[in-house]
Amino acid sequence: MRRETLVVRAGLHSDPVTGAVSAPIHQSATFVHTRLPPPGDNSGYAYSRTSNPTRTALEKSLAALDGGARACAFSSGLAALDAVLRLLGPLAGKRLIVTEDPYGGTVRLLDKFFRPIGLDTVYIDTSDTGAVERELERGALALLLEIPSNPLLRVADVDALAAAAKRAGALLIVDNTFLTPHLFRPLEHGADLVVYSATKYLGGHNDLVAGAAVCRTEEMGTRLALVQNAVGAVLGPMDSWLLLRGLKTLAVRLDRQQENARGVAEFLRRCPRVSRVRYPGLPGDPGHERLRRQASGFGAMVSFEVEDPERVEAILTGTKIFSFAESLGGVESLITFPVRQTHADIEPAERERLGITDRLLRLSVGIENLEDLLEDLEQALA
Ligand SMILES: *Cc1c(COP(=O)(O)O)cnc(C)c1O
Repeated sequence: MRRETLVVRAGLHSDPVTGAVSAPIHQSATFVHTRLPPPGDNSGYAYSRTSNPTRTALEKSLAALDGGARACAFSSGLAALDAVLRLLGPLAGKRLIVTEDPYGGTVRLLDKFFRPIGLDTVYIDTSDTGAVERELERGALALLLEIPSNPLLRVADVDALAAAAKRAGALLIVDNTFLTPHLFRPLEHGADLVVYSATKYLGGHNDLVAGAAVCRTEEMGTRLALVQNAVGAVLGPMDSWLLLRGLKTLAVRLDRQQENARGVAEFLRRCPRVSRVRYPGLPGDPGHERLRRQASGFGAMVSFEVEDPERVEAILTGTKIFSFAESLGGVESLITFPVRQTHADIEPAERERLGITDRLLRLSVGIENLEDLLEDLEQALA
């Protein structure tokens, strides 16, 4: 099946009892046994932390969309990342290489909770293939990529980095929150694991917090399910169902969001008050060619710098359609100020070095009418 068909059909789990087209919400903590299961028989359902039929339906869809052996759904994207890190084995004295401008919460998790137990995180510009190769040669447990990075939207060469990670004996983990399997399937480019904040594009409606991890191999999938059960940051049945519903429209939503994002980026590039626009979908953007080669789209996140930082607050509160809010990926357009919101926990000197400045704004472009979005930006910038 092609991508647009798969997102709809992979999410259909008609109920064998009633024929209901929409997967039932199994709002139950426990399940009645009809016989004494043989020792070690884990088929069937027993307790909803371990497995729940609505969550299983979702996990099957997620595995199918990424072409993975198994997927696990978690209560948030960070819970999914935490589970994946636990999967790596003993972490003390080991190194993890990470994209230097990742999601702010990823930095918080790594620096505040994994560094104290001995996992040393090295942040580097992963769009610089040579730099990553040199770091990998010094030894690493895994390489964690965000593509494109956030909020600077730089693009790593995943094929080259997958080969380098393999040579170095490191696992490749891709946080594919921004592109989703509709536009990019990391496992087909050599990744071992894919993680998602499903709060964003996969859910798509800013109405739930959820995460997922997809494993290339069954062996890793079994171990991830063990972490999921042992630690217990699972996605509940109701949210699993909401996510299943959101997933069915992923292709149409993201295609439209991407079309709007391109229009918004082109508009901003012509704006005199805007000094720089970052959108890998624009020809001439540093990541454009690389993403065109690897993915089937560019996503719908646009970052831009305004000439005068004094104007930032007026822009944030002056938009009428773009909502001034954190997060991204939903059908509603949002405007974010990374320095004070998503990346506030990063050390100021480090932010400055990266270019996450008090002039930088980030847009998550939704599915509204493009002319309305442009008029809104025009009046707010004026
Ligand atoms: C939001 C986000 C996360 C964290 O996900 P939550 O669902 O908020 O826990 C991780 N990675 C990226 C790229 C994100 O945008």
